[in-house]
Amino acid sequence: MLEKAKQKLQTYYGYESFRKGQEQTILSVMTGKNTACIMPTGGGKSLCYQIPALLLEGTTLVISPLISLMKDQVDALSQLGIAATYINSSLSNEAIATRMKAAMEQRYKLLYIAPERLEASQFIHQLNRIKIPLVAVDEAHCISQWGHDFRPSYLYIDKMIQQLSSEPNIVALTATATPQVKEDICSRLSISSDSTVSTGFSRENLSFYVSKEADREKYLHQYVLKNKDEAGIVYASTRKEVNKLHERLSNIGIKVAKYHGGMSEKERTQEQERFLQDDVALMIATNAFGMGIDKSNIRYVIHYQIPKNMESYYQEAGRAGRDNLESECILLFSAQDIHIQRFLIEQSSNDEDRAHQELNKLQQMIDFCHIDGCLQAYILEYFGEQDPLPCGKCGNCQDDREKVEITKTAQMILSCMIRMGERFGKTLIAQVLTGSKSKKIRELHFHQLTTYGLLKNKSSKEVGELIDFLTSEGFIGVTSGAYPVLYVTNKGKEVLLNKVHVYRKESLKIHKIVEDNG
Ligand code: ADP
Ligand code: ZN
Repeated sequence: MLEKAKQKLQTYYGYESFRKGQEQTILSVMTGKNTACIMPTGGGKSLCYQIPALLLEGTTLVISPLISLMKDQVDALSQLGIAATYINSSLSNEAIATRMKAAMEQRYKLLYIAPERLEASQFIHQLNRIKIPLVAVDEAHCISQWGHDFRPSYLYIDKMIQQLSSEPNIVALTATATPQVKEDICSRLSISSDSTVSTGFSRENLSFYVSKEADREKYLHQYVLKNKDEAGIVYASTRKEVNKLHERLSNIGIKVAKYHGGMSEKERTQEQERFLQDDVALMIATNAFGMGIDKSNIRYVIHYQIPKNMESYYQEAGRAGRDNLESECILLFSAQDIHIQRFLIEQSSNDEDRAHQELNKLQQMIDFCHIDGCLQAYILEYFGEQDPLPCGKCGNCQDDREKVEITKTAQMILSCMIRMGERFGKTLIAQVLTGSKSKKIRELHFHQLTTYGLLKNKSSKEVGELIDFLTSEGFIGVTSGAYPVLYVTNKGKEVLLNKVHVYRKESLKIHKIVEDNG
């Protein structure tokens, strides 16, 4: 079986050997098992269903949520001499009818469809006249409400498969799946957990950095100028911000393309092409840009604002370095952006549970910006890898400041929170600890607490940063509401009991005198 698969790889694609995980996935699919395949972006998931499609008799059905990607994939397959087509809302009814007719004549090896098609029972009826040995579910995380990209129409997949008389197997593919999402994919698509192939999420050629530089724009200008010959993407969170940055960078003579949902389709395509063809090295965009873009030589991705969750962040940052060369992913953190993201979440969801969940995800994104351990390891752990090793090259791994014990300070903060009744946010807690004379504090009688002013040798900004750090390390929890309230977690209580000690990298560089014993 593997020999046959390899043969297809060489004759159709011209590649010598399979990559990590491809062989295993193909083998599992070809032995008739429903299979889940989790591989990072650029890992080579497409081959994992395309090669079985070539080996199996009949037409493999591919479900994909990305209309633009579908066309690209089909074009690419046609160039390789593989018969494929797609059906989605971009086509006229006549075109759809023609393609379906050809499909019923078994003329394609692969048929790509958008998941919305599955909601029409007539369409399922038509599918039933095609011999379908395999259904590939691309971007399979869309099936889970725990994911960041839930598509209700994905819930029809299971039903559709039950209705197909050819009793197809399933292969589900995704680049982002937390353990919860993985479980959801497997249970909804009847995949047994031992038929899951995961190559891990690690992208070893990416170096992550979080910058808390006060002047972001200056940072951006300097970075972009220094790297002006390299391709890069800057993600900003709003159209307005994209326009502003685009204008300012153009004004200082940098050639830059832009992309956001407020531009006409023609403009967007034009700008995208300029970037893809290397006419301009830099693209400034909202998160509308990048889905299905296959540009391998992107050397850096900068997030000008914090994204709404780790899934989005990793997906966007992961567009750097698809050619496996060293690339940088930089997040420019500013505390005020958190309010905007919170506001957007509150606005966009009318379901309370959902909002709650999204706010928790946002908190994990914020924590990423405040930890002092390895950033890559944090990402991998988020996606369910156990005890990942430090990468050695992210901003935090390269930060050679000494860790110092801050258990006492942490205890002051935690006990102050408890004395205040664990009913308040970061700002007020920091004010009490630094001994602020604000009216609110007097009204609440917090100036009478024994913890009042305990950290008056620090600024409230510094105390705020300490609180963020303790939050990112799990000593402090944050409720998910419009006005987040901080509380002491069980782990935090252990600190108060002196059972756990807290260490943090000092904010001042300590120059060690290295003694030469030689
Ligand atoms: P994904 O869907 O996982 O993001 P793709 O399937 O688009 O990744 O593959 C990414 C790139 O890697 C593509 O350009 C593809 O042609 C290439 N590729 C995939 N498998 C192999 C292989 N075995 N050998 C060499 N290149 C490969
Ligand atoms: Zn690291």
